[in-house]
Amino acid sequence: MVVEQQRQTPATREVVCTHCERKIEIPATAMSVSCRHCHRRVIIEDLEIKTYHAVLRVATAGKVDVQKKGTLVADVRVNELAVEGNLKGNVVALDRVAVGKKASIEGDVSCRTLTVEPGAKLNGHFRVDPEFVPPPAASRESADDETA
Ligand SMILES: [Zn+2]
Repeated sequence: MVVEQQRQTPATREVVCTHCERKIEIPATAMSVSCRHCHRRVIIEDLEIKTYHAVLRVATAGKVDVQKKGTLVADVRVNELAVEGNLKGNVVALDRVAVGKKASIEGDVSCRTLTVEPGAKLNGHFRVDPEFVPPPAASRESADDETA
């Protein structure tokens, strides 16, 4: 028997909402969607940090790539993180974190899988668990309380 219905690339993919931490299915090419659980806008864009970049929080359901000459100072909430440069802040990555040999991370990191090249500098508490599910971000939403 031949199964002919399978496509090579799925038209949708699954990401986790950066606000309510719940899973949403999105079109594979979408750059942002409205979460069907909390109805807030979720950014899916991939970010490349090439220079000094300091903000309070970076949240995307895509990937953040801190390049060799890049410094990111922020709390980071991503699906996937790659660091070749410097990162200062706490990281929650839904999937994987890859740390290059010249990279340095100062802050706590939670992720599902971690790869670290020899030479990388890590200073913080690491929690690596393939079953990792981030705690729901409920309390910080009390300012604009919606009862949706
Ligand atoms: Zn949501």
